[in-house]
Amino acid sequence: MRRFPTPIHNVMAALSKLPGVGPKTALRYTFSLLRMSPHDLDMIGRAIANLQNVITCSECFAYTETPICDICTDKRRQENVLCVVAESRDIATIEATDAFNGKYFVLGGKLNPVEGDTPEALNVEALIKKLEADPKIKEVILAFSPDVHGETTIMYLTRRIKQFGTKTTRLARGLPMGADIEYTDEVTLGDALLGRRDT
Ligand SMILES: [Zn+2]
Repeated sequence: MRRFPTPIHNVMAALSKLPGVGPKTALRYTFSLLRMSPHDLDMIGRAIANLQNVITCSECFAYTETPICDICTDKRRQENVLCVVAESRDIATIEATDAFNGKYFVLGGKLNPVEGDTPEALNVEALIKKLEADPKIKEVILAFSPDVHGETTIMYLTRRIKQFGTKTTRLARGLPMGADIEYTDEVTLGDALLGRRDT
């Protein structure tokens, strides 16, 4: 491999840790950064370093800067419906639809035991505890994409939640099979939420 000055080599190595960024892409990004002003480079560096201040909400496990996130502390949101999502970023996607005004819970992934995503590795027990502790929750929306791991997760959680007599629902059909929630357009996702059905 061609030798570059150490700072270039270090940035390339750092960028290569990102998903989908191979050596060629890392090289291209690093050379784009080299053309930026010292001010912009400083800004990018600080912005990335500040990610260390992001923590997860103690109530719902969403990314936040405060111990409890804005949505969990918002009194105007419905307390009787909880939307369970795989990842924190799914919340932003669902919020953009304007079709939901309840609270969220981030599971931390989808069940995929072969890859190590077992119920113990996800926030399953915290979810069960929350439902146990909060009888106000009357409906749990299992907002997972309709792929193999999403279906497995919906089936598993439905079984676990049934004991509380809480209604479990899922997004309506209409989401393309295997489609990730984050790549679904707002209108389709909004319709799927409004037309949700029992699991
Ligand atoms: Zn929260």
